[in-house]
Amino acid sequence: MKEIFGNLIGGAWRRSGDAIVNVNPSDTSDIVGRYAVAAEGDVREAVNVAQEAARAWFAAAPQVRAERLDAIGAEIVGRDGELARQLAREEGKTLREAHAEVTKSAQLFKFFSGEAVRMSGERVSSVRPGIDVDVERRPLGVVGLITPWNFPMSIPAWKAAPALAYGNAVILKPAELTNASAWSLADIANRHLPPGVFQLIMGDRRVGQSLVSNSALNGVSFTGSVLTGQAIAQTAHPAARLQLEMGGKNPLIVMEDADLMKAVDGAVKGAFYSTGQRCTASSRLIVHKSVRAHFVERLVARIQALRVGHALDETSDIGPLASEAQLARVQGYLEIGTREGARIACGGELIEAPTKGFFMRPALFVDTNSRQRINQEEIFGPVASIIEVADIDEAIAVANDTDFGLCAGLFTNSLSYVGKFRRQIAAGMAMINVPTVGTDYHVPFGGTRASSYGPRELGFAAREFYTTTVTFYTQT
Ligand code: NAD
Repeated sequence: MKEIFGNLIGGAWRRSGDAIVNVNPSDTSDIVGRYAVAAEGDVREAVNVAQEAARAWFAAAPQVRAERLDAIGAEIVGRDGELARQLAREEGKTLREAHAEVTKSAQLFKFFSGEAVRMSGERVSSVRPGIDVDVERRPLGVVGLITPWNFPMSIPAWKAAPALAYGNAVILKPAELTNASAWSLADIANRHLPPGVFQLIMGDRRVGQSLVSNSALNGVSFTGSVLTGQAIAQTAHPAARLQLEMGGKNPLIVMEDADLMKAVDGAVKGAFYSTGQRCTASSRLIVHKSVRAHFVERLVARIQALRVGHALDETSDIGPLASEAQLARVQGYLEIGTREGARIACGGELIEAPTKGFFMRPALFVDTNSRQRINQEEIFGPVASIIEVADIDEAIAVANDTDFGLCAGLFTNSLSYVGKFRRQIAAGMAMINVPTVGTDYHVPFGGTRASSYGPRELGFAAREFYTTTVTFYTQT
C-alpha cells in the first residue's frame, strides 16, 4: 500500500513528499496507512483559509450548524464497525473499547448539534436609567486543536464539536502516532461542512509549533503531556486563548468499609483497561491497612486473569502499549520503582504473542510510599501502586500529595468519609464508588494544578472556552 493520505486544507486533500507510517502496535507487520506531513506553508494556508471560513460559518443560521453536526454524528454511528476497527488497529485498545470511543465521538457531535441552537446571550438591567444592556455570545474565530494518541477520535471530537457548534473554524493537528482516526474524522466532517471549516494538518511537534505560534489563531485547545503543555504556553501567540489538558496521577482510595469486590473491579478497570494509557487512570491505589492484604490478594488474582493480546482479538481484555517508546518508558518505571525499594507483586513481563507487538503483563507495585517517583510521575501504562494508609485523613492527604489533580476516586459506604472526601479532595473530577475512568460528555471535564489550565472542556463548560462576549449598551 503506497497511497499517502493527505492533509485537508480548504476542503481539498493535499499530498506531500514526506509521510508518517502508521504501524499497528498489536502486529508491527501491519501498516495501517501512510499520512502526509504538513509543510510550514500548508499550516499558514490553513490558518488563512480558516479565517474566511469561520466568518461564513458563524453567519450561517444556527439551524444549519445544528444539522451539519448532527449529520457528522450520524455518519460516525453508521460507520462504527469500520472506524472502531481502524482505531483498535492504530492505537492498540481493544475492539470493545474502540467501539465505545467511536460511539462517544458520535454522541459528542449529536449533543453539541443541539448546543448550536442554544447559544444564548443575556439581557441585564443597566445601572443607569434608560439604557438596555445585552451580552451576546460570539465565536472565538479560528481555533487550533492539538491532540494526543490515546483517544485518537474522541478527543478531536470533544474539541471540534463544541468549537463548530458555537461557530468557530478548527484546524486539527493530531498526534503523529494515530493519524488514521483523525483523518477519518476530518473526511467525515469535510463531507458535511463548508470547505475550510474543519481542516487537518498532520506531522510531529514542529507542525504543532508552527500552528500554535501563528498570530492569526484565536485559540488553542491542547490535550497531552505536561511538558508539551508548558511548551505550548510559551510558544502560543499571546493573543490566543489557551486551554491545556495535561497529565494525571489519579488516586483511588479504598476504605475499610468498602464493598471490596466492587473496589477491586474499579481498580482493575481504572488502572489497567486501555492498557493504563488514560489521563484518568487510577495509578495510585490508596488502601486502608485493615483491608490491604485482602484487597491485594484479590486484585492480583484479577490482574493475573486478564488476557493481554491483539486488540482485534475479541477475547483480549487489554491490548498492547501504543508504541515501542511507550513500552520502553513503562518498563523503565518498573526499574525505577524496584530501585526505590518497591516490590512488584505481579506482572511487568513482556509477552511473546503470535504477532510481534508491544505486549506487557499489567503490573502491581506493593510496599510503596507516596514520595517515590512511581507515585509522583505519570507512568501512562498498565502499572499501579498500593499505598497503605491508617485512616481517611491520611488517605486524603496522600491522594492530594502530587502536582496533579485530574480525577480522584473513593470506595466506601461511609457518609462521613464521603463528606470529608468531597470537601478536601484536590481534583477537578471525583468519583465515589465508581472507577476514575469513564466520564460523561455533557458535564465539565478537567483538573486542577498541573493537570489543567484554562476553562474546562465538554458540556456547558465548553462554551466558556469557544466563545467570547460582546456587551451592547443601547439607549432608546
Ligand atoms: P504529547 O504531549 O507528547 O503530544 C500531544 C500532542 O502535542 C501531539 O499532537 C504532539 O505532536 C503535539 N506537540 C508536541 N510538542 C508540541 C509543541 N511544542 N507544540 C505544539 N504541539 C506539540 O502527548 P501524548 O504522548 O500524545 O499523549 C499522552 C499525554 O496526554 C499524557 O500525559 C496524558 O496524561 C495526556 N492526556 C491528557 C488528557 C486530559 O484530558 N487531561 C487526556 C488524554 C491524554
